[in-house]
Amino acid sequence: MRLSSYFMPTLKENPSEAQIVSHRLMLRAGMVRQASAGIYSWLPMGFRVLKRIEQIVREEQNASGAQEVLMPTIQSADLWRESGRYDDYGKEMLRIVDRHDREMLYGPTNEELITDIFKGAAKSWRDVPRNLYHIQWKFRDEVRPRFGVMRGREFLMKDAYSFDLSKEAARHSYNKMFVAYLRTFARLGLKAIPMRADTGPIGGDLSHEFIILAETGESQVYCHRDVLELDVLGADIDFDDQATVQGVVDRWTAIYAATDEKHDEAAYGAIPEERRVSARGIEVGHIFYFGSKYSKPLGAMIARPDGETVPVEMGSYGIGVSRLVGAIIEASHDERGIIWPESVAPFRVGLINLRVGDAACSAAATGIYDTLRKAGVEVLYDDRDESPGAKFASMDLIGLPWQLVVGPRGLAQGVVELKERRTGEKQELPIDAALARFT
Ligand code: ATP
Ligand code: MG
Ligand code: MG
Ligand code: MG
Repeated sequence: MRLSSYFMPTLKENPSEAQIVSHRLMLRAGMVRQASAGIYSWLPMGFRVLKRIEQIVREEQNASGAQEVLMPTIQSADLWRESGRYDDYGKEMLRIVDRHDREMLYGPTNEELITDIFKGAAKSWRDVPRNLYHIQWKFRDEVRPRFGVMRGREFLMKDAYSFDLSKEAARHSYNKMFVAYLRTFARLGLKAIPMRADTGPIGGDLSHEFIILAETGESQVYCHRDVLELDVLGADIDFDDQATVQGVVDRWTAIYAATDEKHDEAAYGAIPEERRVSARGIEVGHIFYFGSKYSKPLGAMIARPDGETVPVEMGSYGIGVSRLVGAIIEASHDERGIIWPESVAPFRVGLINLRVGDAACSAAATGIYDTLRKAGVEVLYDDRDESPGAKFASMDLIGLPWQLVVGPRGLAQGVVELKERRTGEKQELPIDAALARFT
């Protein structure tokens, strides 16, 4: 992509409405634009990141055996009356009346709808286990939408729902999601800690929130420092091997980590003082086991091998896909701007032509641009007629992992400069050697 024709409305000044760094940087880098309170349009740069996060979430869900579906954003109020949540959900639910006076709502979550879908199709133990997920926009009329996409009203969520015959089987489904979440967040370059959590309006009795430590987080959390040092992606995992999956969950849950609601002063006090962590955190994922809370009222029953009919055992598993865009920036930035982890970066390489009017510079930069593109490397080519300072500043602001700088002085020696955004490390390399890093 050539920057001269890219739609990237960057801002030089800090927007006054943004209170936290990720919101400021997302606006300054031209990633999103507010449409109304807590509702955002995603511009090309932001949309690329959103899609890359979504894809990693999808790959890890699929790897764990979950199957992707797509449910609508608008739901009928009837199902929510059956579960009893139509009244319980309160003002966070956006209620809509259609032209026939039918009560509808913009889905804040999908337990009812998926239970109804499953119920219409599944009859017996042969139809379980299943885990169905979708990645779809949700609406919650938050009292205080703030911090940009971190607490929006319309936001993108991955929500998965598991169906099992017994509590033990449901536990395995829960554990699989637990491990899939660890892998997902690690691939996103994040240290997300599973913490014992309250089940809230979803209900049920087993739950973990996945939390990123950050000063701007809205939750108070407590943990043992050891949990911050566990390695996640070390080995591949066989999700069908119940004992292995349970082993991973046990290793993580053996170490103290809890949200405020589940905090246990005595257990925390037993941790050596220098290993205690009391911090703010951002909730990026949340998993629940809730048994028959929805299957019972909605009548989702399956027959066991002995013929007895029982309500299907369920769990639900959310990831805040759009919140993650902000959360990753909170975790990865410096005073000059965003520092994207390679896995989610909108482009891998930013190519800067320092002197657009110079024939040799332009020929070299265009050659590099074409070679990278042909090799399938995503590259943003700053071919604008701007000062070097302005180009360096906007490249640092948008945070692409690698910068390749082509200038007349280097070119005379046959070299270009390669800069790693994260470390700031610079290196002069012949063009071929620089290209070889990426192709
Ligand atoms: P919070 O405590 O932040 O209000 P929640 O507990 O209400 O979140 P869940 O029902 O657990 O949210 O939804 C699953 C995930 O969806 C959350 O872990 C979070 O990452 C994301 N999420 C929830 N509300 C919002 C929101 N208003 N804006 C962006 N993402 C959200
Ligand atoms: Mg909430
Ligand atoms: Mg919460
Ligand atoms: Mg939650």
